[in-house]
Amino acid sequence: MTETQHFEVVVIGGGSGLTAAYFAGQDNRSVALITDRPEAIGGTCVNFGCIPTKTLVQSARAVDVIRSTASFGVHVDLRTLRIDFAGIMNNMRAARADNAAGARRWVESAMTPFFSPVRFVGDKLLETEDGRRITGDKLFIASGARAAIPPIDGLADTGYWTNEDVLELIEQPASLIVIGGGYIGVELGYFFAALGTEVTVINPDDKLLAEDDDVRELFTREFGKRARLVTGRAKRATRTDAGKRVEVADGAGHSHSIEAEQILVATGRQPNTQSLNLAATGVQVDERGAIQVDAHLRTDHADIYAYGDVIGQGMFKHTSSAEGELAYRNSQNDDHRADRAMSYRANPHAVFSDPEVAAVGLTEAECDKQGQDYRVSTLHYADIAKGKIVGAPAGFAKLLIENDSERILGCHIVGPDAALLIHEVVVAMNTTAADASLVRRAIHIHPSLSELVGTLFDQT
Ligand SMILES: Cc1cc2nc3c(=O)[nH]c(=O)nc-3n(C[C@H](O)[C@H](O)[C@H](O)COP(=O)(O)OP(=O)(O)OC[C@H]3O[C@@H](n4cnc5c(N)ncnc54)[C@H](O)[C@@H]3O)c2cc1C
Repeated sequence: MTETQHFEVVVIGGGSGLTAAYFAGQDNRSVALITDRPEAIGGTCVNFGCIPTKTLVQSARAVDVIRSTASFGVHVDLRTLRIDFAGIMNNMRAARADNAAGARRWVESAMTPFFSPVRFVGDKLLETEDGRRITGDKLFIASGARAAIPPIDGLADTGYWTNEDVLELIEQPASLIVIGGGYIGVELGYFFAALGTEVTVINPDDKLLAEDDDVRELFTREFGKRARLVTGRAKRATRTDAGKRVEVADGAGHSHSIEAEQILVATGRQPNTQSLNLAATGVQVDERGAIQVDAHLRTDHADIYAYGDVIGQGMFKHTSSAEGELAYRNSQNDDHRADRAMSYRANPHAVFSDPEVAAVGLTEAECDKQGQDYRVSTLHYADIAKGKIVGAPAGFAKLLIENDSERILGCHIVGPDAALLIHEVVVAMNTTAADASLVRRAIHIHPSLSELVGTLFDQT
């Protein structure tokens, strides 16, 4: 039997796993980094998620800008507009390969890499596919998640794309059915639609996204100008002579048939835990397969921490990175009572579609569910000077503040640069009192879109 290698810190996962590995390296710990995808170090964000998809969205935005110049008195001949789809995809893949290669070089120089799938074979004891055994003082599981594929009759035989497959395309599909109206579906759907693909989005609810209801309503209305929206559940997929067909059952029991060249499945993410044999080390998962952790990101095993998509909370890159640093720091405390809890209260997110969406804190429905006593205020882009200058786009910012205090409960923005604009609210919410007067007291540049946030706070 091979000898078991021992490290102070063992990390499973080459995505946000790198965060715990980085901080361990800063403390001069011996670090093992295990990943089953050495060609994709950096994980989902670098290779199949945030960065490549936002690179594609940037091309979509460029097309939108060109198409909108006439309203600013600048006329271009749109007949000369040519989309180099293969060029767009190749550029994205080249940048992605550079990023992954850079991350791999760093991993190989800064820690001990194990490029293999791994599973637990005992208490804190891991084994790679080729039989190498690894153990450690503190272990971190950041094995991420993959596209969840819903049980749709005939889907596997018909064939479909996930977020990973679309990034390998060379030819643009003429038409595309997107199953799922969450953020992945509407970001990729926006990219294809802006470039001229005929996009149909199937979503169980008549409003897209999981956001504040007012945001969902405006987003759905605006996105519906680009793509056909079908409300219902995809039940069956088949091949046709020209492409693929999906049958959708709506809430009233009616069935619709939709045809397109290809199908993209974007129906959520499934935590990667099945193959880890977590039972061998006493780590529990919930019914979705997500690892259960306490507020300090510790699993049921005192020396094993988990974070990122595999714990199924937040499921964004910035969240995973924040969790990774906290999990590492907590693991180095001798006195666990001094551990810091992960707070998701001021954890923002964005949807890079059109319109763009960003949010932090509670939605109005969540405030109601929690019995919060609060006031609401909304301000439209068209109501501020810069908003008018940029063409009065559809969109607004909405603020929820606790009554009898200045505590910010949540803020939601839908419209241009929403992901940038939300950040001053994030900073204010990150203080103990989440004090709205921090934003109110700030002087905002005139005329800038940041006045949308400043004026919203002034009026609330
Ligand atoms: C299309 C798309 C777009 C996205 N856009 C954004 C965005 O704009 N902004 C944002 O913040 N987030 C975005 N996300 C989410 C973000 O990518 C994830 O939240 C983040 O990458 C999760 O990091 P992670 O480390 O938990 O998982 P991953 O990055 O998936 O890392 C998991 C690692 O574990 C390894 N692994 C798994 N099982 C094993 C095993 N048994 N043995 C060894 N290794 C294993 C994998 O190979 C991988 O290296 C997007 C996601 C998708 C899919």
